[in-house]
Amino acid sequence: MIPAFLIAGIAARLLSHEQERIGGAAEAAARERLQAVAAQVELAVEVVQDELLRALQALSPENLEQALRIWEQDNPLVRNVFIWQGANDLLLPDSTLPLTREQREFLQRYNTLFNGSRSWEEANGQEDATPSTSQKLYVRMKGRQPQLRGTWIPWYWENRFGMIGWTQKESGGPRYGVELEMIAMLSEMVAVLPPMPDNRLMALVDGTGHRIYQSGGLEISEELNPALRIPVGRVLPHWEMVLYTPDGTFAGDAPGYALLSGLLVGFLFLALFVSSGLLLRDAHRNRLDARQKTTFVSNVSHELKTPLTTIRMYADLLGEGRVTNPEKAKRYLHTIVGESERLTRLVNNVLDFSRLEQNRKKYRITKFNLREAVEETFQSQSLRIQNANMDLMVSLPPDPAPIKTDRDALRQVLLNLVDNAIKYAADGGKLSVELTFAPGGYFIAVADAGPGIPKKHRRRIFERFYRIDDSITATTQGCGLGLGIARRLLADLGADIEYQPAQGGGARFIITLPKEAP
Ligand code: ADP
Repeated sequence: MIPAFLIAGIAARLLSHEQERIGGAAEAAARERLQAVAAQVELAVEVVQDELLRALQALSPENLEQALRIWEQDNPLVRNVFIWQGANDLLLPDSTLPLTREQREFLQRYNTLFNGSRSWEEANGQEDATPSTSQKLYVRMKGRQPQLRGTWIPWYWENRFGMIGWTQKESGGPRYGVELEMIAMLSEMVAVLPPMPDNRLMALVDGTGHRIYQSGGLEISEELNPALRIPVGRVLPHWEMVLYTPDGTFAGDAPGYALLSGLLVGFLFLALFVSSGLLLRDAHRNRLDARQKTTFVSNVSHELKTPLTTIRMYADLLGEGRVTNPEKAKRYLHTIVGESERLTRLVNNVLDFSRLEQNRKKYRITKFNLREAVEETFQSQSLRIQNANMDLMVSLPPDPAPIKTDRDALRQVLLNLVDNAIKYAADGGKLSVELTFAPGGYFIAVADAGPGIPKKHRRRIFERFYRIDDSITATTQGCGLGLGIARRLLADLGADIEYQPAQGGGARFIITLPKEAP
C-alpha cells in the first residue's frame, strides 16, 4: 500500500500543479485582455483630447473669444471655455460681466491654475513623458503629427474628476482652452468594454472607486476583491480597469482537475481497500481451509480406526477358536460384517467427496421403483437401528413409485441420514421414514426425535466439513461430510435436501426428487 499511497500523493500533486498552471495561464490571458481594454479606453480619451486640442489650435486669434463662446454653447464635449493672459488675468470668462453659477464654480475649481499658483505644464506634460501604449498606437494609426503647444490637465476636486485642456499660439501669448464635459466623453467609451460571460465582471472604475461602466453578469458583493486591476494610464490618473471572478482568483478556470484528481485518488483508494479486503478474505479462507483439512484428516483416521479395531478384535477371538458358543460366534460375525459395512460407507463418502470436488463423479442413471429402493435401504439398516434402541417406522404409498435416477447415490444419501440419526438422535428412540408423491416427483422425509439442529446452524450443516461444536459432536465421530455430500449428490440429480424441525423437536430432512434426473 505504501507505493500506492506515494503514487496517489504524486498524482495529486501533479494535478494540482497542472491546475495552478492553467489558473496562471487564465490569469495571463485575462491580464492581456484587460490591458488591451485599458489601452483602448486611454486611446478613446486621447483621441477626443487630441482632436479638441487641434481644433483649438486651428481657431483664428481674431475672433477667438467669439469662437470659444460658440463652442461652449454647441459642442457637447465642452463644459467651459477660458482665455487666460496671466496670473488672475482672465479674458474669458469675463469677470467684469455677470457670471453664471456654472462659470463661478468653474473659476473656483481651477482657481489655483488661474491665479498662477500652479504650473500649467506641471501635470501631464507631454513633452518629457514617455509615450503610453495608447499614444504609440495612436501615432501608428494617424501618423506622427506636429507637436502642439498645450496639454490636458486631469483635475480632482471634492472627490470629483474633471479635465481641462489648453493651448497657446505662441510662447508668451494667452493660453486658452476648454474644460471637458466628462459625461459626454465617457459615453464614447461604452463601446470599448467587450461583452463578458455570466461569471465575470469587467468594470471601468474612477479614482474614487465608482464603477463608471461595467460588463458581465457576475453579481458581486462588497467584500469581493477584484481578481485583476490595471491602471488606465496617465490620461485618467487613478482610474482602473478591474476584473472580478466569483472567488477573486482564476483557480475556478480548471475545476475539472480538482474533481478529476479527487476522483482518481478516491478510485485508487477504493481499489486498494477492495483488493486488500479480498486478499484478507482469501487469506482467512485459506487458513480456515488448512485447519479444516487437518481436522478432516484426523477425523477420518479416527473413523477408520474404530471399525478396524473392532473387526480385528472379533476376528482374533474367532480365529483363535476361543469362542465356543455358536450364538456368540454368530453375533461376533455379525458385528464384523456391520463394522465392515460402516467402513465401506465411510470410504464411499470420502471417495465421493474427492470425486465431487474434482467434478469427476459419474452417475449411473437407471429406472427403478423408488418405493422398493427406500424399503430395501431401511430394511438393511433395521438391525443397526434396533441396536441403537430406536423404533423404525417406514410409511410407503401402496402404489409403485417409478423413478429414473442414480440408485446408489440415493442409497448413500439415505444411509448418511440413518447414520446421523443413530449418532445424534438415538436418545429420541424413533426414526420415521415417509415416501409421498409430489408434483413431478417424490418427497422422502427422514425424521428423528433427537435434539434437532439449533436455528443458527441449520443453513451451515450442509457445508463441507461443518460440524456443530457441541457436547454431542464432541463424543461422536464424524468428519462433517455426510450432509454436504448428500446435498451435492442430490443437486447433480436435479434433487434437493433441506432441513425442517420435526414436530416435538427432532431433526427432519426432506428430500425432493424429480421423477427423472436431468
Ligand atoms: P458428521 O455427522 O460427520 O459430523 P454431517 O454433515 O453428516 O457430518 O452432519 C453435520 C452436523 O449436523 C453434525 O456434526 C451434527 O452436529 C448435525 N446433525 C446432522 N444430523 C443430525 C441429526 N439427525 N440430529 C442432530 N444433529 C444432526
